[in-house]
Amino acid sequence: MASIFTKIANGEIPSYKIAEDEHYFAFLDINPLAKGHTLVIPKKEVDYIFDIDDELYKGLFAFAKNVAAAIEKVMPCKRIGLTVIGLEVPHAHIHLIPINSIYDMDFKQPKLQLEAGEFESIAKNIRKAYNERM
Ligand code: AMP
Repeated sequence: MASIFTKIANGEIPSYKIAEDEHYFAFLDINPLAKGHTLVIPKKEVDYIFDIDDELYKGLFAFAKNVAAAIEKVMPCKRIGLTVIGLEVPHAHIHLIPINSIYDMDFKQPKLQLEAGEFESIAKNIRKAYNERM
């Protein structure tokens, strides 16, 4: 059965899309640690990130780099933190999180509750920055 992230990339499940190309897809995390918290996935469904073949793996990080630059342009923060966890959804993904301190990467923190309108507006701004960059 297709993973929830495959369904998102295929448009079968709605998401706050940030960017897409032939091989990769980026969208807002629905339970964000910070405004602009984004997930980047390969469209190819692989559970564990270190099982991805080298070419697709390198491309995933290159794609994430451009997404991170777009997030950084529009979300006030010191840096974009990058982490991979993958214990919840068995489809490899990179977390990109706007951070000001190491504590902003703590997944034990309560997640933000945002209205749909706020997710939409954040996604729109990051998407615009991404499209201007590419
Ligand atoms: P992990 O697999 O531990 O890296 O966590 C999976 C992440 O995916 C969590 O941060 C969830 O909030 C996020 N997530 C799960 N389902 C969705 C969804 N439908 N849309 C956006 N993000 C999701």
